Amino acid sequence: RCLDPHGAFVQPITVCVRKRPMSRRESNCKSMDIITVPTVDSLIVHELRFKVDLTKFLEHHKFRFDYTFDEECSNALVYDHTARPLIQTMFEGGNATCFAYGQTGSGKTHTMGGEFCGKVQDCGTGIYAMAARDVFEEVSRPKYRELGAKITCSYFEIYGSKVFDLLHPDKPMLRVLEDGRQQVVVVGLKEMPVTRVDDVLRLIELGNKERTSGQTAANAKSSRSHAVFQMALHFPDSWGPYGKCSFVDLAGNERGADTQSADRQTRLEGAEINKSLLALKECIRALSRQSSHLPFRGSKLTQVLRDSFVGGKKNKTCMIAMISPSTSCVEHTLNTLRYADRVK
Ligand code: ADP
Ligand code: MG
Repeated sequence: RCLDPHGAFVQPITVCVRKRPMSRRESNCKSMDIITVPTVDSLIVHELRFKVDLTKFLEHHKFRFDYTFDEECSNALVYDHTARPLIQTMFEGGNATCFAYGQTGSGKTHTMGGEFCGKVQDCGTGIYAMAARDVFEEVSRPKYRELGAKITCSYFEIYGSKVFDLLHPDKPMLRVLEDGRQQVVVVGLKEMPVTRVDDVLRLIELGNKERTSGQTAANAKSSRSHAVFQMALHFPDSWGPYGKCSFVDLAGNERGADTQSADRQTRLEGAEINKSLLALKECIRALSRQSSHLPFRGSKLTQVLRDSFVGGKKNKTCMIAMISPSTSCVEHTLNTLRYADRVK
């Protein structure tokens, strides 16, 4: 197992877990931190259980992943071991994809979009921004400048089975079509040309705001949608991008269980999220087995990300499973870890 940020061998699929710190609220309401991270690639969930006679005992669930990050780890460290080694893929003509998976409140948006200071999000501290810096460092090398390489950015949201452009002031709904070449096209999606990191940061900020505007805690749409941020590399006179990087802040996985809800809309959304997360698992597994059958039509999410799965050996994928440390989240945490465990 070798994951070298500076090139060399990087495995096609990396699965990591990040544990966030206890929140003040969790600490105040006597919740306990039940996760330990004994090594850089293992993690234990200490679940408190009761016997029939109500005596307590601890069940220890041990997991191994490519990397496990404890609550002390920064976004930068997580980036260095997850998305960073994938950036080169885009310059080699492949598609790199990084997913943030986990329950609502586990730290997906914090990791991908940037740290929160109260309600304000500092987009410069997220994986999107760190990736943008590395992309521009590479593309500004004389080799790429001479070839006339250009970068474009897009940022959209998949809500239910609908796609919305986050870089368009009206946030229009977009259609997804497959053309004769079996290419999937999001019709009308803004692909903004960017010439420096600041351009990208401004677009991320715009999209982040668009994503969370008008939300209340009770109606947090962002927890029920997948956000996809992409950078693509283009050369003059060629059809389509040469390579792409996609970063996906997935819908909260507990929402997939909302299929029991009394409210019809919530039930339908839950079913769609469930379907997309299952399809995603199947697609990543197919990619890791180099299988020729890729069930990408199983959901809008996997359909839109078709290029990430089709295209064989050049593609690289990374999943960061986010978990909350507290007792109250133990069921969701175990679900998340089992999903991540089965992805590979
Ligand atoms: P999600 O997107 O998975 O629903 P968020 O990223 O919004 O979760 O995180 C929920 C809360 O936890 C936010 O207030 C965020 O600032 C905080 N948080 C998440 N991860 C971390 C971390 N690694 N360090 C400090 N605070 C974090
Ligand atoms: Mg979020």
